[in-house]
Amino acid sequence: MDIPLSSVSLTDRERAYAFDAINTGWISSSGAYVKRFEDALSARVGRSQVIACTNGTLALEIVLRAIGLQRGDEVIVPALTFVAPAAVVKALGGVPVLADIDPQTWTLDPSSVMERVTPRTKAVIAVDLLGHPADYDALVPTLSAYGIFVIEDAAEAHGASYKGKQVGSFGVASCFSFHANKTISTGEGGCVATHHERLAKQVRLLVNHGMTPDRPYWHDVVGTNARMTNITAAIGVGQVERWDELVEARQRVARWYDERLPVELKRRPVAAWATEATWLYTVTHPERDRIVAHLRSRGIDARALWTALCDLPLYGDGTPCPVARRVAREAFWLPTFADLTLAQVETVIDALYEALKAAA
Ligand SMILES: *Cc1c(COP(=O)(O)O)cnc(C)c1O
Repeated sequence: MDIPLSSVSLTDRERAYAFDAINTGWISSSGAYVKRFEDALSARVGRSQVIACTNGTLALEIVLRAIGLQRGDEVIVPALTFVAPAAVVKALGGVPVLADIDPQTWTLDPSSVMERVTPRTKAVIAVDLLGHPADYDALVPTLSAYGIFVIEDAAEAHGASYKGKQVGSFGVASCFSFHANKTISTGEGGCVATHHERLAKQVRLLVNHGMTPDRPYWHDVVGTNARMTNITAAIGVGQVERWDELVEARQRVARWYDERLPVELKRRPVAAWATEATWLYTVTHPERDRIVAHLRSRGIDARALWTALCDLPLYGDGTPCPVARRVAREAFWLPTFADLTLAQVETVIDALYEALKAAA
């Protein structure tokens, strides 16, 4: 593809920190960059506790284990999302229960969530989909009153905010991904952010073999090894120092698309209370498949959105999710990354006009 969907933005800053990590010899998770990365993230998202780990999927899995998810417990997840939040529930022996999304936000529809609550509901994973926060005021107070944990999956939303407050600060804990295609990237990586000291302690324990701090080789819980390496964290420190620049670069790309987008294409909706931080620029059209095929034939890595989870045999439970299904069938991504140029955006727009003419 001449114009990829996604591409990382790395500078001499990340390079210098990564080389420094290597030069000190500290290449495992012992090393000063891990704490530096955690502290920088903590300041950024306004949570007192941040625990870095190997990826965003394990961050979600470890939070579920830390809140005590048991076999058979139900966890409500949105019917439209990357699969990770549903997969981790199933991997732990829990039951992912799908709630539909709101057509105005593409995030969890609070009324659909309430319809799916049962006495077995342990948690709700709210996804800040494609850079748009979920409606936390409509979720957290009601669910907390039932003793249900709200977990924020902010993997796609670095830099977005909800009613003026940064994502990564909602619910009992928030998870980020730093995968190569995410807005802030360490290649592979993730973290858990929370205000709850007990929960943070449990997460740290689980990430590090369940080993009791200050008591070497004493294990009271079954843990795993999900620690981030010092080299990865060094890249992360460089990326967090560039946080505003990286978020704004994608916003600039989104504005370029906004100003040139053919009227037949609808951009994803944004709620009045949301400050979206575009992760991947997403539009809808009923002739989605033909348009995407045309763009791809022109060397542009446009892609159809994920299949709605209700349409995957592994996750669908027969409950309809009409909004998620419609969006999943009509939505597609255009190339979006910090170093994308205006000339490349214009190439994509030209190809979109061609595709629409052919589809008409
Ligand atoms: C990317 C992503 C994840 C998983 O992150 P990894 O670091 O790739 O494991 C989880 N949830 C959502 C919504 C994502 O987009």
